[in-house]
Amino acid sequence: MKVTDHIKNANGKTLFSFEIIPPKKGNSIQQLYNNIDPLMEFNPPFIDVTTSREEYLYIEKDGLLDRKITRMRPGTVGICAAISHKYNVDTVPHVLCGGFTKEETEYLLVDCHYLGIHNVMALRGDAMKHEQYFKACDGGHQFAKELVGQIQNLNKGQYLHDVIEADGKSDFCIGVAGYPEKHLEAPSLKTDLKRLKEKIDAGADYVVTQMFFDNQKYFEFVEAAKAEGINVPIIPGIKPLAVKRHLQLLPQVFKIDLPEDLIDAVEACKNNQQVRQVGVEWAIQQSKELQAAGVPVLHYYSMGKSDNVKAIASELF
Ligand SMILES: Cc1cc2nc3c(=O)[nH]c(=O)nc-3n(C[C@H](O)[C@H](O)[C@H](O)COP(=O)(O)OP(=O)(O)OC[C@H]3O[C@@H](n4cnc5c(N)ncnc54)[C@H](O)[C@@H]3O)c2cc1C
Repeated sequence: MKVTDHIKNANGKTLFSFEIIPPKKGNSIQQLYNNIDPLMEFNPPFIDVTTSREEYLYIEKDGLLDRKITRMRPGTVGICAAISHKYNVDTVPHVLCGGFTKEETEYLLVDCHYLGIHNVMALRGDAMKHEQYFKACDGGHQFAKELVGQIQNLNKGQYLHDVIEADGKSDFCIGVAGYPEKHLEAPSLKTDLKRLKEKIDAGADYVVTQMFFDNQKYFEFVEAAKAEGINVPIIPGIKPLAVKRHLQLLPQVFKIDLPEDLIDAVEACKNNQQVRQVGVEWAIQQSKELQAAGVPVLHYYSMGKSDNVKAIASELF
């Protein structure tokens, strides 16, 4: 079922969902299941599975470094299929512009369609680790908006190059990313919102936000999005802070602000176990306020560990 239909059927009740990361190549999927199992009692209607960008690997050979390209966490669509099968839940594979040609994207979407996956999250992806700016690969998309357009074309039965009489068209529900504190490359929040509107106009059905720790930022973002003419569900993304290093890392990587009260509480912690507890308590307060405000879904960035998300969900669902 589509994410938007899950939201409609909930009749205003806030739903629970979460995002997982595929294991590193060569690792068993069992560890992923061990982390999903404890969260299934909260009835997530859908689970997101991220996609990682490719990276360079340098292998020494005869005293020289040989550069190879690799994807350390492949398997997004396979994991979606495995989870759907095991838990009877909808899954949302993240589909990236970065590192994929339009043709590869088409084949991936065809796989999703055959597997009965009804939702995809259309994302640009970040720059590769060694690059300062995002660069589309030859034959790839530069912006998420173009990827949304390709998925919408497929929904109309329009494939890239071939003239096909499609009798079983896909009907993907498309999610896109939104940034309450603006995307790090955007010159202003207003400009970023215009870009978000372009993604909706290209056919996106709902938005999932970047993590934020101050609900006011989300509420203001939703208002500003409405003023921009964005009328699709805007799902808040919540990340429970887990280690002290997050105080530097999260603002650095995502260009987001952390509230003073949260910083003070984390700085007072003697170890990361205490930080994890502070992160859980903060996320519970955030989630309760968002739930009371009637958000459609509370979507958690689990980062592959479920103990803290379970502690939060137990207070809310
Ligand atoms: C909910 C969520 C899930 C995510 N999942 C993943 C994942 O699984 N894997 C992963 O690698 N990354 C993931 N990301 C990170 C995401 O890929 C990055 O934030 C990326 O830098 C931007 O992606 P986007 O889809 O928002 O890009 P876009 O919407 O294309 O926007 C990127 C930037 O370009 C600007 N822009 C857009 N259109 C134009 C235009 N026409 N002209 C000029 N500027 C323009 C925007 O304002 C923005 O600054 C996720 C992010 C979120 C919020």
